[in-house]
Amino acid sequence: MVEMRNIEYVVYHNLCMGCGVCEVACPNHSIRMTYNSAKGLPIPSVDRDSCLLCQKCLQVCFGYGVAQQESSGRLVSENAGLLGNHINAYSGSTTNKSIANSSSSGGIVTALVQFAFEKGIIDSAVLTRLEVDRLPYARTFLARTSKEVSLAAGSKYCPVSFAEGLKRLGPNNRFGVVALPCQAYAIRRLTEINPVYKKGLVFIIGLLCGGAPTYLGTRYLLHLYGFDLESLSRIEYRGGGWPGRLLLERRNQENRRRMTRSYPQYWQGVTEYFFPFRCTICTQGFNEFSDVSCGDMWSSQQLVGMGNSLMITRTALGESLVRDAKRAYRIHATPLAKDIIGSLQPGLAKKPEKVISRKRISRIFQKKFPIVEQKQAFPLPGIESYLLAIDLYVGRALASRGALWIFLKMFLVSKRIISFFRRFLK
Ligand SMILES: Cc1cc2nc3c(=O)[nH]c(=O)nc-3n(C[C@H](O)[C@H](O)[C@H](O)COP(=O)(O)OP(=O)(O)OC[C@H]3O[C@@H](n4cnc5c(N)ncnc54)[C@H](O)[C@@H]3O)c2cc1C
Ligand code: SF4
Ligand code: SF4
Repeated sequence: MVEMRNIEYVVYHNLCMGCGVCEVACPNHSIRMTYNSAKGLPIPSVDRDSCLLCQKCLQVCFGYGVAQQESSGRLVSENAGLLGNHINAYSGSTTNKSIANSSSSGGIVTALVQFAFEKGIIDSAVLTRLEVDRLPYARTFLARTSKEVSLAAGSKYCPVSFAEGLKRLGPNNRFGVVALPCQAYAIRRLTEINPVYKKGLVFIIGLLCGGAPTYLGTRYLLHLYGFDLESLSRIEYRGGGWPGRLLLERRNQENRRRMTRSYPQYWQGVTEYFFPFRCTICTQGFNEFSDVSCGDMWSSQQLVGMGNSLMITRTALGESLVRDAKRAYRIHATPLAKDIIGSLQPGLAKKPEKVISRKRISRIFQKKFPIVEQKQAFPLPGIESYLLAIDLYVGRALASRGALWIFLKMFLVSKRIISFFRRFLK
């Protein structure tokens, strides 16, 4: 049993999702992120000899808990409904065709960050890109030009540590960040304990998030489609129009192979089984910690191939960024009625209910949870929700080791047979 004295507690209870912000928060440089291949995540390790037990790492950590108090002028709302505190909602896309083709949804994130560079609102941006000479891993980097921003386009469905990108910032940088909710929360908290980051942070563009599969998930995809790590020369999780595809490419002396499979079908129903435990009980998917949060327009009348992003503005700065970029014809943006957003995001809208049943099942196994999390009143889960929670735990157990993937495939086949008969009997 590890005591609650630093982030070793979070790692021990499998609540870490590898954001790396604790490494930056540590005033004594006692934390280092290292890749853990068994978990498929970058994980912090603490040098116990130099650790001051100041708990700054715990203060920023989303795995430890979500603070309910005002966080850098941002309140994690109690009664703001599904979306959290917000100003407006829009659907939109970039006006640049090449960005549209390499991005995930409507290329809005890339377009907004580029616009912020052009207008001198920021001089750097902490973004995520694939490590071309160390595929399939992704890393954060500091983009300093609009051209470098385009290197980050497209979602990487894997964990990423922000330590590298954040540590490259100088004391006079005015920077923007693109981050998932857990990363955005940790960065907001970092600004509360470190004046350099507080002074420099201009905005956070948040991504909506249902979960970030570990690298075991990427390895499973390679295994499923007959690729190996050693000869992988290209991987893209999205891109090539909406909703996009997985692109895998192998180039070695003997042969060359390129394969695409459409998104999200290429996951073949296994994504959740590869989520870190923290993602399975996370209810912050709409990214309330950002100035603008962006996601897909699921369940809309959107035509395949024509990408659009959902945008939710949350601060005056976020709202003016969207309006000014529209005025300058960098993006298209059409106001959306807020009450339809739940139907555009059915997965995120139903997740809080699922989390209640997942937590109840997890309690049987004495699992620890983040200290504070779900505050709003959500409908009590029905029996179906508990069955799904059990399905998730079986699936996660089978996904956790390569040696068990044969049983994972058998499990998936048996689920398909059961669902066929259920439909047939109806
Ligand atoms: C792990 C993950 C889970 C997601 N889950 C959902 C979901 O459930 N529902 C939904 O509607 N949308 C989800 N999204 C967001 C969605 O995939 C798109 O990123 C979003 O719609 C913006 O699209 P865009 O075309 O405007 O962005 P683009 O212009 O393509 O820009 C993408 C930006 O994302 C950043 N980025 C890429 N990968 C990561 C990463 N792993 N961590 C942090 N930043 C990253 C890059 O820095 C880049 O700036 C998720 C994204 C990720 C990375
Ligand atoms: S979730 Fe982030 S801040 Fe928390 S322990 Fe993991 S890497 Fe550190
Ligand atoms: S589901 Fe929550 S914890 Fe997991 S990556 Fe997304 S925001 Fe982070």
